[in-house]
Amino acid sequence: MFKIPFLKPNLIKKETYLSYLSKIDKSRIYTNYGYLNTLFENRVFNEYFKGIGAVTTVNNATIGLILAISQSKRRKGKYALMPSFTFAATPLAAMWCGLEPYFVDISQDEWCMNEEMLDKILKKLDDKVAVVVPYATFGNNLNLNYYQKLQDSEIPVVIDAASSFGSIYNNEQFGIGFSGFIVYSFHATKPFGVGEGGIVYSKNTDSILRIRQAGNFGFSINRESIMQGINAKMPEYTAAIALATLDVFPKKIKIRQIIYATYLEYFKKIKLLEKGWKFQEILSKPVPQFISLLCNPLQNNKLYIEHLAKHNIEARTYFSPACHQQKQFKAFKRTTLLITEEISKHILSLPLWEDMTKNDILRVVETINLL
Ligand SMILES: *Cc1c(COP(=O)(O)O)cnc(C)c1O
Repeated sequence: MFKIPFLKPNLIKKETYLSYLSKIDKSRIYTNYGYLNTLFENRVFNEYFKGIGAVTTVNNATIGLILAISQSKRRKGKYALMPSFTFAATPLAAMWCGLEPYFVDISQDEWCMNEEMLDKILKKLDDKVAVVVPYATFGNNLNLNYYQKLQDSEIPVVIDAASSFGSIYNNEQFGIGFSGFIVYSFHATKPFGVGEGGIVYSKNTDSILRIRQAGNFGFSINRESIMQGINAKMPEYTAAIALATLDVFPKKIKIRQIIYATYLEYFKKIKLLEKGWKFQEILSKPVPQFISLLCNPLQNNKLYIEHLAKHNIEARTYFSPACHQQKQFKAFKRTTLLITEEISKHILSLPLWEDMTKNDILRVVETINLL
């Protein structure tokens, strides 16, 4: 049997952005918020964020998180409150800003940070909290009203929405109208993949101007560095790919949602839920990046990873080990993490790529059913 890889990114082909590349050759502007970058930002701003607030591109979401955290953190604060059930980039970004990650447990069903626990820990740590960094898990919706209230009460919020570009809630792009920072990733493995890239969004236009300035070495108009900057600029070549990707993104979304629906149909056929498996409770309409589910609580995900590997199917366990279980983050403070640890043992991430056939999906599901 041929191998079914976990992901097989399928970025747009060069023919679709050659005309943009010619523009670069002609203008001889290769970066520094050039013409194509501006065109891309404007399209994202108008087509996805309805012209509300502002966006800026960044060269990847990790740098976007670093910029957003460093621009919003409370100077006297020490901790960045975040889930442990996230990608290593979230705590790493906080550490690059001189903060200590403080891990908070997630909710049983949506797999996002538990707001009751967060409330308690916010009260306990008080002004030692520098920033709150929730993760919109696998494109799921976050209670933005709750986080907006935090933001309004002067507890800065930076949302890691790495896999949420194209995720719809209330018929709108997730995140629209939020006045803290929201960071989206365009890494090749994300649904809107361009290689490396991302955007930072906020309803607050001034905040985005600050991110942009910090992302260009903190330069003032006179090219004097006046704030803690870094180089976060997206090259024009990436902007060319991103522009062409915008044109096919609706089609990509549809394909991914059909694959997701096909998985669900086959799961139903083998009565997976009746066998004690569990899906994430999804409140938005995300663009599926891969298939995440929990195996029966009496079994362990490692068993399935090995079993699938034996049948030449590559599966993963995002995000297990959770951050607090990784060497780099072990020493950091945390609430009890019972749900995170439970989910870490059972989470299974199954293959999803755009040219996957029905037969590929069936093979994955039937292989699961063999165990
Ligand atoms: C992908 C991802 C990131 C990092 O995005 P990059 O663009 O690769 O830097 C951060 N957080 C989460 C949750 C992610 O899934």
